[in-house]
Amino acid sequence: MDLGLRNKVALITASSRGIGLGIARVLAQEGARVIISARREDELARARDAIIKESGTEVLAVRADLTVKDDVDRLVREAMNAFGNIDILVFNAGPPKPGTFSQLSDDDWDYATKLLLLSAVWLTKRVINSMVNRNWGRLIYVTSLTLRQPIPNLVLSNTVRLSLAGLVKSLAIEYGSHGITTNGIMQGYIMTERIDQLAQEEARARSISVDDVIKSWSKEIPVGRYGKPEEIGYLVAFLASDKAAYINGSMILIDGGYVRCVF
Ligand code: NAD
Repeated sequence: MDLGLRNKVALITASSRGIGLGIARVLAQEGARVIISARREDELARARDAIIKESGTEVLAVRADLTVKDDVDRLVREAMNAFGNIDILVFNAGPPKPGTFSQLSDDDWDYATKLLLLSAVWLTKRVINSMVNRNWGRLIYVTSLTLRQPIPNLVLSNTVRLSLAGLVKSLAIEYGSHGITTNGIMQGYIMTERIDQLAQEEARARSISVDDVIKSWSKEIPVGRYGKPEEIGYLVAFLASDKAAYINGSMILIDGGYVRCVF
């Protein structure tokens, strides 16, 4: 199935590694021109070189901290200067600080709100007019399964990310008639560098192998394994295509069957 993404321009945030990089790689393989962005120059350069090598597409890498509004401004400006417009915005963010309610400070809440909510608003505000002018656009927000099933030690994720579901519905209603669809993704456990690091720490603490840690963590997932970053990328690629033009305002769970509720 040709998804028709050749030469579309896609901006993917928090994409120097992990889920964001997996999404950027799949969109690039589909022929989209991609803008990747994260805080660390060295990781970004590595990611850019790897994407160019495997897909041969145009890639722009822009260093930007999502919690700094001036960085978000500059990111969109540089992307527009390089490619003229943005067709597809994929909002992904770095992980918020873990912790229970009693462990988190006011500053932690401020920071998480910037990281998980305000940055999404800032980005959307800066790309939406170019989509409206061309009567086509795709807004895709990567969140977490915590919207469906809170995780005890991730109170910031459980709480702040929920607002993105409201943003997705609101944008879907406001911009659906402009050829712009808005959707969200609630991913479950995905094997990324960050998860690998956590598994190594747990393996050391329990004096067992990393493989055994991953096996024990995977027991609760019906398909018996963690997801792969590119599996989120395949979903994003479909949502970004014209084939998904009737999917608007949806929050889509992709979790190997982990969440047990029906709706
Ligand atoms: P990761 O740590 O592997 O990658 C995070 C990316 O975000 C990196 O590119 C990093 O440079 C970038 N980043 C971090 N803080 C940033 C900031 N302030 N500004 C700009 N870029 C920033 O993480 P991941 O596992 O790929 O997770 C991505 C997102 O998905 C996170 O929000 C995470 O909480 C969420 N999530 C992950 C899983 C999972 O199992 N991996 C499950 C549910 C939700």
